[in-house]
Amino acid sequence: MENCVFCKIINREIPADIVYEDDIMIAFKDIAPQAKVHILLVPKEHIPNNLYLEGRHKSVIGHIILKANEIAKQLGIAETGFRLIVNTGPHSGQEVPHIHWHLLGGEPLGRLIC
Ligand code: IMP
Repeated sequence: MENCVFCKIINREIPADIVYEDDIMIAFKDIAPQAKVHILLVPKEHIPNNLYLEGRHKSVIGHIILKANEIAKQLGIAETGFRLIVNTGPHSGQEVPHIHWHLLGGEPLGRLIC
């Protein structure tokens, strides 16, 4: 999708600190971290937000959620726990209209949300 910052990262048009990638998704460090570890998990298909998910996306969603566990282990934050967040639309504060899961951890999060 033209002008989508996450599509540009996927297409290597802008740089990112990538921690994992496969045919379905990419995971990279958030540019403005809200926790000690803050990773964005992004499907390669441009889906604007949660409301645009369809039945055919079930395997993509499952893949990303399961990879979150692997990435958390890879980054050493699985044992102490983490948070996954999906913002959807204006009231959630969603800034980038390409669905993504925030993976936050590495410190006690308290009531912190992003
Ligand atoms: P949202 O508010 O749920 O849409 O989250 C978007 C996230 O993308 C924010 O936490 C931003 O800091 C992050 N972000 C925006 N542009 C970039 C970038 O170029 N690289 C990495 N993270 C980005």
